[in-house]
Order: sequence, then structure tokens, then C-alpha cells
Amino acid sequence: MAGMAELERSPLSAGEDNISVDAARAAIRAALTPIAGTETVPLVAARGRVLAADVISPIDVPAHDNSAMDGYAFDGAALRDGVALELRSVGTIHAGHAPAGPLAAGECVRIMTGAVMPAGLDTVVPLELCRVDGDMVRIAPGVIRAGENRRRRGEDLTAGRPAIAAGRVLRPADIGLVASLGLTEIEVRRRLRVAVFSTGDEVVAPGQPLPPHCIYDSNRYALLAAIERLGMEAIDLGLLRDDPVMLEAALRDAANRADAIVTSGGVSAGDADYTRDIIERLGEVQFWKVAMRPGRPFAFGVLHGDDGAHAAFLFALPGNPVASLVTFYVFAREALLVLAGAEPEPIPVLQARSVAALRKRPGRSEFQRARVSRADDGIWEVRTVGSQGAGILRSMSEANALIVLGYGQGSVAAGSPVDVWLFDGWT
Ligand code: AMP
Ligand code: MG
Repeated sequence: MAGMAELERSPLSAGEDNISVDAARAAIRAALTPIAGTETVPLVAARGRVLAADVISPIDVPAHDNSAMDGYAFDGAALRDGVALELRSVGTIHAGHAPAGPLAAGECVRIMTGAVMPAGLDTVVPLELCRVDGDMVRIAPGVIRAGENRRRRGEDLTAGRPAIAAGRVLRPADIGLVASLGLTEIEVRRRLRVAVFSTGDEVVAPGQPLPPHCIYDSNRYALLAAIERLGMEAIDLGLLRDDPVMLEAALRDAANRADAIVTSGGVSAGDADYTRDIIERLGEVQFWKVAMRPGRPFAFGVLHGDDGAHAAFLFALPGNPVASLVTFYVFAREALLVLAGAEPEPIPVLQARSVAALRKRPGRSEFQRARVSRADDGIWEVRTVGSQGAGILRSMSEANALIVLGYGQGSVAAGSPVDVWLFDGWT
């Protein structure tokens, strides 16, 4: 698999050494090969899909110069500084109807928004800025400049030029733009298939009685939801005992069926050895202790399918529920988008004022669950929520953001700005 050999030789990934978040992200990025398959879908089904090829505009949009306002169209060359302009209206043009013939000097025409501009006219004065008396229209000095309120042919899109670049994760405006070209279908990458399973003898599926010493499986549900939110096909492979035979069979099955595999648990010090034995039979995987909190143990690599041609990228996340979600966002999210063929937008980093002092030692990245809100002075501020323990999912649920403290950063004084990742934009 392209990139993996390089990854193995990287001094940063040698054995169990600590690796920084940035170095791990770079090593992952270098190893990825996007899927190639595409399909054609109707526009109504295209939201969130990854555009497979540039969309080339077959037409100029708009196709003609047209009015941006309801008003009177006239030749702007007739305007004189400090002098009112008196014009005679010779008709009305509605949107979707042919423009009037050529106008004589001193004439104008009533025009509706979207109607095609008659030849030779370049300016529209909005109705509310004129005084109309019968068919005479008076435009006071200074209310309008030549060329205003006219939309130019091709000002939105030019025929033969790319309208949207391949790799775009399609948003509502993109879909509207494609429709504005008269197209009804769009070529997108096929959906990335991402297999998910949980591991652990203590982990029980929701809906079952909870035996003593056990906990319910939350990771699989959170991860399936996170993957679906990325517009991908999440394949639920269930919950596995800590049993090498089952684990190997599940990984083999997933490597044959999926483009990527996301697991949780089984990579911390106690389990890593037998997980490693299995994985080494199936592919090449790096086990990292990433210099981050939460989320230290993490493994990434490639597992080969039985036919030798297909391979799946493995993201083996830590078992602690918050660590598994944070490592998903930090390492897997962007990587899965790249695999899906997207040109991913990085998570936007915003700055907010930290209400409280934050303790932090340099030499690792920290991701603290927090709530961002607007302060009385209008500035965005952020405060941590609940316990920061790696297993406390409630504080992750109550948070609307992560405070991101970089590798080299030390403690933060109250009132200082910190970087934050918001969990949601707006939908
Ligand atoms: P592990 O990485 O397997 O050692 O697990 C670390 C911690 O995460 C342990 O306390 C596990 O019980 C917990 N854990 C592992 N998998 C899950 C899961 N699917 N849902 C909730 N907690 C889990
Ligand atoms: Mg475990």
C-alpha cells in the first residue's frame, strides 16, 4: 500500500515511543490512498456526498444581463452630476419575457427583477427612488450611478469553466449551483464503507441485562453516529469478547468488506500484545503512545483482504469513551474524509477567552471538554465542563467544544485566549 513503507521507516513511529499528535496525523495522511469508485446520483440525494469530478458549467449563469431590482431601466450615460434626469417610460418588461426593442434617447422602461435588460441599457433605478407622474419618471440627482442594479451575463458562472472543484463535500448551496446549470444528476464518489466494532469482556450491548462487573457499550454507538454524520456507510460489526480467535476473524472479515475499520479498546498496554500479534498477521500497523490527553494508546495501519488486492485502513482507538471520540476527531475524521475522496476542510480553530486558569504541562496535546458562550462584553469565552476523566462521557455530552492546548503550550492564565474546536456549526 502506497505510503506504508515510508511510515514504517519513520523514526517517529519506531516502536512504543511517544509521538506527537501532529507527527501521528502527518504519518496517517502520508499513508492514505482515496477510494476510486464513483456513482451518479440525483441532485436531491447529493447532500454530504463527495464530488468526484469538477463540475464544468455548460452555460453562462445568468444567461443574459438582467435587472437586480423592480424599477426603471435606462442608459446610465444620460446621468449628469447635480442634475435630475427626466425619462419617459415606454413599456414594462416582466421576468421571463422578451425585452423591449431599442429605446430612443430620453426613454426608459419599467423592468421587474430578473427580467432581461433591453439592448443598450445598463442601469436600473429602483422604483422607490423615482418620482413617477403618468409615463414620466424623474430621478433626483445622486440617487443612482451608471451600471447599478444590473446583473451581468455570466457573472455567477461562465460556460466552460469549473463551477465546483472535485473533492467538495456537497452543501445545499453547491446543489443549488449545480441545478442552476440545468443539470439533474451529479457524479460523486461511492460512499466510504467504515466497519466499527467494540472489544472487551466487560462490555455489554445496550438492551441486555447488565451483569455485575460490566458496562454498556457506548463507543460503538458514538462512533457509528460520528461516521454517519460524515456521510459514510457505517457497518456495525458488533461487540467482541477479548478473544484472539474472534478478534482475528472479525478483523479479517472487516478487511475484506470495508475501506476502513474503526475499533475501540484492546490497544492499551495490557491488551496491545495479543492485538498486535493478530494484526501483524493481517497487515502493517503502528502502535503509538501519542503525547496527548485523553487518548494515549492508538494504532493505525493497513489490513490486507484475503484476495491480496483489497486493503482497509485500521484506526484502533482507545477504549475509554471520551478518549475514543477525541482520537476519532483528532486522527480518524479527516483521514476518513481523505479516503472518501474529499478535500477536507480542517476543523476550524477559533479563539475564545478562557474564563478560568488551566493547568497544562508542555510536551503533550490536551483536549478539554468545554462550553463556549458569548460574554456580556460580546467576546466569546470558554469554560471547561464537568470532570475531564477519559471515561466521563457525560461531560463530553454537555460540552459544545474542545479546548485545544498544543504540544508545547504551558498553563493558561484566566482571561487568556485559547484555541477551541466547536462540535457543531449550524444546520
Ligand atoms: P481498553 O482500552 O480496552 O483497556 O479499555 C479502556 C477502558 O475503556 C476500560 O475501562 C473499558 O471498560 C472502557 N471501554 C472499552 N470499550 C468500551 C466501550 N465499547 N464502551 C464503553 N467503555 C468501553
Ligand atoms: Mg478492553
